[in-house]
Amino acid sequence: MSELCDFGLIGLAVMGENLALNVESRGNRVAVYNRTTSVMEDFVNGRAKGKAFVGCKTVEELCKSLKRPRKVMMMVKAGPAVDAVIKELTPYLEPGDIIIDGGNTYYADTERRTKEVEAAGFLYSGTGVSGGEEGALKGPSMMPGGSPDSWPHLKPIFQAIAAKVGPNGDIPCCEWVGPRGAGHYVKMVHNGIEYGDMQLICEAYSMLKEGLGLSNDELYEVFAEWNTGELDSYLIEITRDIFSVKDPETGKDMVDLVLDTAGAKGTGKWMSQLALDLGVPSTLVTEAVYARGLSARKDERVRASKLLKGPNPKYAGDKKQFIEQVRQALYASKIVSYAQGFVQLQAAAVEHDWPLNYGDCAMLWRGGCIIRAVFLDRIKEAFDKSPKLENLLLAPYFADAVDKAQDAWRHVVSQAALLGIPVPAFYTALAYYDGFRRERLPANLLQSQRDYFGAHTYERTDKPRGEFFHTEWIELR
Ligand code: NAP
Repeated sequence: MSELCDFGLIGLAVMGENLALNVESRGNRVAVYNRTTSVMEDFVNGRAKGKAFVGCKTVEELCKSLKRPRKVMMMVKAGPAVDAVIKELTPYLEPGDIIIDGGNTYYADTERRTKEVEAAGFLYSGTGVSGGEEGALKGPSMMPGGSPDSWPHLKPIFQAIAAKVGPNGDIPCCEWVGPRGAGHYVKMVHNGIEYGDMQLICEAYSMLKEGLGLSNDELYEVFAEWNTGELDSYLIEITRDIFSVKDPETGKDMVDLVLDTAGAKGTGKWMSQLALDLGVPSTLVTEAVYARGLSARKDERVRASKLLKGPNPKYAGDKKQFIEQVRQALYASKIVSYAQGFVQLQAAAVEHDWPLNYGDCAMLWRGGCIIRAVFLDRIKEAFDKSPKLENLLLAPYFADAVDKAQDAWRHVVSQAALLGIPVPAFYTALAYYDGFRRERLPANLLQSQRDYFGAHTYERTDKPRGEFFHTEWIELR
């Protein structure tokens, strides 16, 4: 019998193939299986040729070729396919073997599957993997959760393949997140924050392009400059590069040829829906999802553009100063977006009894993933200093950063309104900041209205919290 393998991988589409190559490159022997056998054969005879892979035609063959405890990672389409693969696998597993789901799975499915797989005597890990195909190959950001007993077995392999950061490049962007669905929840929040970051960058682009009329060459320079400071991040870097790409067919700037209708796979929507369930205001991701939705209604917008009027979008003030103000508005809004993401994580951790470490979460996203940014070091420092920090905006570093940026931020948002340029994420970020920093909001009137028409009761400013009152408003008016 040939040598047993260290790791098994099911699902050889882009992510699975690249992860398998990454695992093998760290000195592991890897067994691979794909539902469509020809895909597995093409891989084994192609990119995997000459490497330590064992191609398997059945799940049984894959399980038989693995060392115990078996570690089998599924990189298949999220949803029913995951349940189908688990069902196929379990007859060939033994107690203590580990099934890993590395897909973009809805966290509640991972909560359920962890319990089911554990009840059957095996271990389960729902592991968020970010970084796309390149990350999978060269070093993704990994967010493992599930059965805690799986972690000592997975840790050496996962931390070896993950992206590395830190002054010596030796801190892996992979750490245990928490039980059951915690890893997939953290991955979903990562994706939601990614939605917010992308939308904010697009709004900054819109202000600079429409408001100032900057060319793509000028935009390249602006983003190149921004990438050297506090906005230094993967998304700013790729945005810079996008402005330099020409269409091979026409020679025109590629970005201008791309149709303005955004797609989405649903993780932003999940985060937004779950924020509503938790009662936390994750307004950036929600606006970002709505903005994609509005963009997708292209035909309607084309018709509306011919009917609905607005102001001339050209900004009349100083160009250089406005570029800097837009940068500051982007930075302040980004801080609010991350603050909201961490508030949602904290609320979910309480709801699901997950002992999350928020500084670790920031470090998981520091490298290998789409939202990787220098800025995450500051978030890690803030949570290391006060692990129970209620809101990032209350950390001195971020309170100060937003304070310094707020004049510019208010200027940009007000100019956007005056010029008729839609910047919903900038608006909502500023509105959240102004709402959050207010001791008193107009909800006194709202509670009065609720009590007036529905006898919903209210608490009083002059009585202890928790005592509820009702007024016969009609009789007293
Ligand atoms: P994908 O297109 O999501 O899924 C294709 C793979 O799933 C194929 O190997 C396919 O096998 C298999 N599959 C589908 N239904 C199956 C079933 N019922 N039973 C067994 N296998 C089944 O592939 P992907 O883009 O590589 O993504 C894999 C996972 O990673 C997904 O959850 C995705 O959301 C997540 N992810 C993707 C990215 C990315 O950048 N693409 C980034 C992070 C995470 P066949 O060849 O037989 O059809």
